[in-house]
Amino acid sequence: MAAPRESFHMTSDEFRAHGRAVVDWVADYLDRVGDLPVASAVEPGAVRAALPPAPPERGEPFAAMLRDLDEVVMPGITHWQSPNFYGFFPCNGSGPAILGDLVSTGLGVQGMLWATSPAVTELETHVLDWVVDLLALPERFRSTGAGGGVIQDSASSATLCALIAARERAGAPYGTLAGYTSTQAHSSVEKAWRVAGLDPANLRQVPVDAAFAMRPDALATLLAADVEAGLRPTYVVATVGTTSSNAVDPLPAIAAALVGTNAWLHVDAAMSGTAAVCPEYRWIHDGLDRADSYCFNPHKWMFTSFDCDAFYVADRAALTRALSIVPEYLRNAASDSGAVVDYRDWQIPLGRRFRALKLWFVIRHYGAEGLRHHVREHVALAQELAAWIDADPRLVLSVPPPLNLVCFRHVEGDARTQALLDALNGTGEAYLTHTRLGDNLTIRVSVGATQTRREHVERLRALVDFHA
Ligand SMILES: *Cc1c(COP(=O)(O)O)cnc(C)c1O
Repeated sequence: MAAPRESFHMTSDEFRAHGRAVVDWVADYLDRVGDLPVASAVEPGAVRAALPPAPPERGEPFAAMLRDLDEVVMPGITHWQSPNFYGFFPCNGSGPAILGDLVSTGLGVQGMLWATSPAVTELETHVLDWVVDLLALPERFRSTGAGGGVIQDSASSATLCALIAARERAGAPYGTLAGYTSTQAHSSVEKAWRVAGLDPANLRQVPVDAAFAMRPDALATLLAADVEAGLRPTYVVATVGTTSSNAVDPLPAIAAALVGTNAWLHVDAAMSGTAAVCPEYRWIHDGLDRADSYCFNPHKWMFTSFDCDAFYVADRAALTRALSIVPEYLRNAASDSGAVVDYRDWQIPLGRRFRALKLWFVIRHYGAEGLRHHVREHVALAQELAAWIDADPRLVLSVPPPLNLVCFRHVEGDARTQALLDALNGTGEAYLTHTRLGDNLTIRVSVGATQTRREHVERLRALVDFHA
């Protein structure tokens, strides 16, 4: 009989060897991802059916895991990193981001308090101040004043945290609070409203104009009616780059409509915010200096692997007043001194990963110049595709694309548009998703994957030309 083992842990030599193999595996994957059919074609239940019903009693060699990664997992993967991925919004990544995440996991620290690893907090605060510079965001969001930034897992969480701060700032019975967002806002706004325990009947959907942007006159009318009815306008979410069509809500006019109310203005730029690395696209943020909070997702278009949402507030005290609860076991001298930031007070969960590392690596690897280069390339490719669609009599461009999202339909109506979408996705050479704009089924082409270059968009154009 074998002697009982003293340790089952992976040795550092094993870790080195397997780690190199995994890095090679990821590098090989990213080299060939453009050649794979973009969407997974597995049937429901197929992945589970290929897995053993029960966990192993005896540990297995690492090679067995890598083998099953190829055989069991990969068929069930839709390739978001493919240059031919145009669905939803990008969820792009990059070498520096992946390596930053690896270091974060290797350090394995918990950044809930400044005291639980000072570098986690200070690097995050600092990098988010850098992002204020990179995007030319309003000074009020910089940590050196009353505001500051924090990394959330998602825009949904940012929208929820902002709402909770707004709800507490209102200081009135929940049933009297009213919220406003456009008919085109992301579903996360309605979800936040429900999670925050507010009355769904008091969340207004503000009508939009022909470009699908919020109508400030309609907002003003709704605000006046609610005040008249004894409700308190509490929370307004404006979108910079809506999910359906990339519409940009007019922030200056929205802020003007809010004068005289105590409503909190949150700006959701989850996808499009990244465009502001380029001075020529900074118009999307006109009026942002009047917002109480703002978020965008570096994990969408800024080459920073999921999850990374940058969330800024103008008044950090309003946020921490709403979210800070201090049990005895988390008390410490640094927090009590008031000289440090404790990010657990800026978010819903207590615990937090060292996510700033990947953003820091990305910004240092690309530099502002590199980020601008790739964002400009995506926008230019989308604009060219849009011009070509606009000139094709079989196709209708839904709106002139403000940035990198192209929306179009077939001139013969919904059935033909659906058939075109199915045909394009059926090739496996592109992955596109749909929306409805007005009454029309609409195909969306979101150009923003890290590896998408001219040759890929030209191939997509040829496919549309063939199947239209
Ligand atoms: C993608 C997106 C969201 C949701 O983002 P998560 O980070 O997944 O919560 C919200 N709003 C807009 C405008 C988006 O584009």
